[in-house]
Amino acid sequence: MLSAQNVDYVEASCHCGAVTLRLPHPPMRVRHCNCSLCRRYGTLWAYYTLDSIDVSGSESTETYAWGDKNVDFYRCRTCGCVTHWLPRNTNRDTVGVNARLLEPALLEAADVEYRDAAGTGLFH
Ligand SMILES: [Zn+2]
Repeated sequence: MLSAQNVDYVEASCHCGAVTLRLPHPPMRVRHCNCSLCRRYGTLWAYYTLDSIDVSGSESTETYAWGDKNVDFYRCRTCGCVTHWLPRNTNRDTVGVNARLLEPALLEAADVEYRDAAGTGLFH
């Protein structure tokens, strides 16, 4: 089992393994969001800068965008796991990674912040 102490990166993977994301460290905080999309996806979002992550298997993904289409949500074409989102605006450098794709042990230390995006927009 990977632990946060003895590696200089961590890897998240979809169920079938076609899509992997190399992250610089396990998330310290993850976001649980109740918006109409996230609650259906069941994701926990961890945020990184675009240049700090490495996505392998992008050719195995398909995307979805909604609303103002500010971001594209990526999922594996084979197993269906939602893997990450990328901003369409190239000036934005924050990306979201579905922390559910990490080994559970790597999430144990993370704080979960709950965002009421479907209602007040506030964190609680
Ligand atoms: Zn897959």
